Amino acid sequence: MGDDYTIEMARRPSRRDSEIDVVEWLRGLPKVELHLHLEGTILPGTLLELSRRHDAEPLTAEAAKALYEYENFLGFMDSFKAVSSRLKGPDDYELITYNMVRELAAQGVVHAEVYISFGIIYYWKNAEVEPYVEAIERGRARGEKDFGTTIYWLIDAVRHFGAEEGAKVFRKAAELRQKYPSIVGIGIGGDEARGSADLFRESYAEAKEAGLRLTAHAGETIGPESIWAALNIGAERLGHALSAQQDSELLQVLAEKQVPLELNVTSNIRTGCCATVEDHPVKLYFESGLMVTINSDDPPMFGSNLLEEYCLVQEKFEFSLEQMRELAANAVEASFLGPERKIALLQAVEQYGF
Ligand SMILES: [Zn+2]
Repeated sequence: MGDDYTIEMARRPSRRDSEIDVVEWLRGLPKVELHLHLEGTILPGTLLELSRRHDAEPLTAEAAKALYEYENFLGFMDSFKAVSSRLKGPDDYELITYNMVRELAAQGVVHAEVYISFGIIYYWKNAEVEPYVEAIERGRARGEKDFGTTIYWLIDAVRHFGAEEGAKVFRKAAELRQKYPSIVGIGIGGDEARGSADLFRESYAEAKEAGLRLTAHAGETIGPESIWAALNIGAERLGHALSAQQDSELLQVLAEKQVPLELNVTSNIRTGCCATVEDHPVKLYFESGLMVTINSDDPPMFGSNLLEEYCLVQEKFEFSLEQMRELAANAVEASFLGPERKIALLQAVEQYGF
């Protein structure tokens, strides 16, 4: 990035070009991240630290780096598993949570709603989740105090582990929410082709009844039918929604209902779900009046972060800075924050000057 921005600036004569650094402007823009996986925030340096703690033969720096390289969605799932499997005890979760909050604050993220996969803890660790929740809460509280960025948790079930596993995860989320109010919602992730949203209809209804907000990854790796299915089980926010572009009726419904879309551009390129950045529908969705938000998914796994995603869409799709402000405001509105904080953040976005 760099020189191209002067072109953007030239379209805005009211601003003094030479005094605006767009990357720094985007960093200062109060941003909310709505689609981020805790287990996907582990930077290679943190992975090395975890490996030294736990592996009989610790990873070399090259081996750690190699774990972040893959060619397609299934390769990505294997990489994700290899990195997250080095998360052993609760203390590891506290460490990665604290480091995540620090990284978010450095990018100008004021609030994040972060997925944590209970499915991974149950399935791969065969452990009770509460000590892990206590640990991420310790990391969250320390992080919020030191860096100011607030965190809410979304509890994610792995859809291809099946409906029963999902129900177990969501019931646990509802139970723990009583003690840890920063647990605000649930979601389903994983392989869409092997776990249709329909399977989770009853457990979504039950979760809603328990006061949890509903999200779902949908239309990332398969067609628009997956997005319809997520809407039909009551998902309030959709992760990716990449294949909505194939269905004009769906686009109309998403626009009319203003369903927030948690888009993740770099993620879609790196997993091979979208061929090139130019093919990504982020601008098409925005111009079609959809409720677009920009997010980072699993940033170190994709060599990105939220600030870089804002920079990328601004540069590649020529969003004006006013439109970037609108995207930031969308994320505030689509968050599960209470009305008071929302109003305060919307004002902060609105009043953020050039
Ligand atoms: Zn995701």
